[in-house]
Amino acid sequence: MSHHEVIILGAGPAGLGVAASLEGWHPYDNNGKNLLNINTKHLSDNGVRPIAHFRELHHPEDNTPYGSNKFNFKKNRRADWIILSDDAAGGLWNNVPANQLTLGPANWMELSHYPMKQYNCDNKNDINLKEIINKKNLLNYYKKFSTKLKLNDHIYNNHKIISIQKKQNGDFTIYSKFKNIKREFSCRYLVFALGPKSIKRQLGVPGENLDYINNSYTKPQDFPGKNITIIGGGRSSDWAAQELFDNKKNITYIMRQKKENHLRLIRESQFLNYYKRWHEIISNKERNMTILYESKVIRFLKNNQITYENNYKTQTIKSDHVIIEIGGLPNYNLLKNLNLEFHEKYDNYRFQLLQMKVHQHSFESINVENLYACGYLAQGTGLSVIGFHAGSFLISGDILKKLNLLP
Ligand SMILES: Cc1cc2nc3c(=O)[nH]c(=O)nc-3n(C[C@H](O)[C@H](O)[C@H](O)COP(=O)(O)OP(=O)(O)OC[C@H]3O[C@@H](n4cnc5c(N)ncnc54)[C@H](O)[C@@H]3O)c2cc1C
Repeated sequence: MSHHEVIILGAGPAGLGVAASLEGWHPYDNNGKNLLNINTKHLSDNGVRPIAHFRELHHPEDNTPYGSNKFNFKKNRRADWIILSDDAAGGLWNNVPANQLTLGPANWMELSHYPMKQYNCDNKNDINLKEIINKKNLLNYYKKFSTKLKLNDHIYNNHKIISIQKKQNGDFTIYSKFKNIKREFSCRYLVFALGPKSIKRQLGVPGENLDYINNSYTKPQDFPGKNITIIGGGRSSDWAAQELFDNKKNITYIMRQKKENHLRLIRESQFLNYYKRWHEIISNKERNMTILYESKVIRFLKNNQITYENNYKTQTIKSDHVIIEIGGLPNYNLLKNLNLEFHEKYDNYRFQLLQMKVHQHSFESINVENLYACGYLAQGTGLSVIGFHAGSFLISGDILKKLNLLP
């Protein structure tokens, strides 16, 4: 078993932010004060939300010059940390569709330790910080973030976390699978950054595992044949349905939600090109796009037949492929022995998530000492990178204080 002071689970934007500070990259203000030394409990007691304080330093309201922040980073001694994750640096961005674009500007996806402006400069890129950014550029940025800050040697990829236990002495034991071999790690401080989709949602209907059924969408070329059924109703399935439709596929799009909810999402997302396209598709009543609202799949059969219920009637169609994009859930089962409390968080688009209840000055669980919730798995964060990145300073600051590693 290998022991480390800190183990971060997940190499997404959330885990990387904490890792960078633990590696010794600390934020300083213009007077040379190490900002990780701020008494965040004191801020909290005086009505200032510590995460908002750090976010304001990273993204000052005036935003001039756009993309700048008020942090200066200096290298200090590293803590003994590792990341365990099934993906490489960049987290779920490794697996989104090949042409996926963000919802907000590039600058909002930035991790402050290595500003995108600097990344542009170092790599002679011309990413426009005010514009949405594509998967390729964003993933390259997160990967460069890890190389530039020398995090890579401590990121253990291809580790699937299978269970977590807390020992009598307060340490955590983490079991992972690496190339089908069971591995064991232990640590004093555990940062839970496995992201919002560590368990894929399932329809729970017969035939769901047949080979013409896919649980993710990357690019149209993966789907030869003419007829494709998509099951979903959120942004990811909208992306797949629109892109495949524009690649001359005949789409049947099945969703549980009412038509007005889908139309509202389209209307409120007109700042994104693919939703402008959706507006056209719906207005033109395109023949090759059949949308079945308030419908549900009942079963899949071996001969590519899909049976669904629509308007209280059961219907059957045939499709070359089925794509199920119904989102995922954080894998809190891994922590089920720890008696944690959760808070229900909603956004405007049916996105519902349980966030771990944490102390707002440190993001340490209110129930379990030395367990930290990271990314938007922590109560008090927004559901986006700009919404959660500042939380990484609360976590790393708290751990470094406990380890006596803050200069
Ligand atoms: C299509 C799409 C578009 C999005 N657009 C935006 C956007 O425009 N702006 C924005 O801010 N956010 C967006 N998001 C939200 C996205 O969740 C965040 O951008 C960000 O990736 C979350 O970071 P994270 O580190 O918390 O989680 P993740 O990026 O999910 O990283 C967690 C990592 O942990 C790994 N993991 C999970 N379970 C295990 C396990 N058991 N064992 C080992 N490893 C595991 C995961 O595979 C993943 O690599 C989008 C999400 C999707 C799906």
